Amino acid sequence: MPKNCLLMIHGGAGELDKVHDHSAIEQCLLSLRTILQCGQKILRRGGRALDAVETCAALLEDDPLFNAGRGSVLNERGEVRMDAAIMDGRTCAAGAAADIYGIAHPVKLARLILEHSPHVMLAGAGALLFARRHKLGLVPGDYHVTGQRRAEYRALRARRPRSKQVPADKRHGTIGAVARDRYGNLAAATSTGGMACKQAGRIGDSPIVGAGVYADNQTCAVSATGHGEMFMRTVLAKHVADLIALRKLDAATAARLALNHLHRKVKGRGGLIIIDHKGRYGVRYNTRTMA
Ligand code: ASP
Repeated sequence: MPKNCLLMIHGGAGELDKVHDHSAIEQCLLSLRTILQCGQKILRRGGRALDAVETCAALLEDDPLFNAGRGSVLNERGEVRMDAAIMDGRTCAAGAAADIYGIAHPVKLARLILEHSPHVMLAGAGALLFARRHKLGLVPGDYHVTGQRRAEYRALRARRPRSKQVPADKRHGTIGAVARDRYGNLAAATSTGGMACKQAGRIGDSPIVGAGVYADNQTCAVSATGHGEMFMRTVLAKHVADLIALRKLDAATAARLALNHLHRKVKGRGGLIIIDHKGRYGVRYNTRTMA
């Protein structure tokens, strides 16, 4: 890749080693490597950061090992409901889709919203209507639900009687990508099925600009993963950008301070990938693992 280009992707912070056996972890890493190469090709050919992060996120959404797109975890009602966002650091334009279903690639819907809607975020039925109007193909309801996620859902439900609310499970990671292209433009994307057994209607940090995703050419591109409520309460992705802007920090230092802040303020757990405006990168997590 040209030396001023940079691309990072993640497959979520959590407890990968508790959820997957050794060979599944190997598969996750292989998949991440292959997808990273696809994104690198785009940047190498002079493609835009925004296209690289969208492509990587869509490929990660296709892989049922990750909690996004196909392979998303199920909510308390046994349904898939997904959140995704994408942001262009060149213009600070953003698109986000929340609480959606029936869309193979939520990040592509987010990109359509970025390009063609005067709004930043669309949710639920309205988002699907927008997708249909823009000819984004819908998939059947069971497309996203894998046998593995169904089994995990049953196991989680069995821990508590039906009448009691099942606590949202934090073991599965979201996916995300950040990039810097040869023109110095930054972009970020984040996509997720949210937290397993989450309450119906719950929306996490992933589609929220400034919480789970952020990009601005003047500061940085950020994709976050972890306990979404805590990232929303600390507006963590924007906090990273502020650290870089106001304290002139590099991405690695900003990642460290932001994660300290997340934990100190709200005992939050998760991780971040960051590329700053000077092309330096940072990655940090305070969970057991981050892919
Ligand atoms: N941040 C996501 C959410 O809370 C979950 C994750 O990153 O694993 O929806």
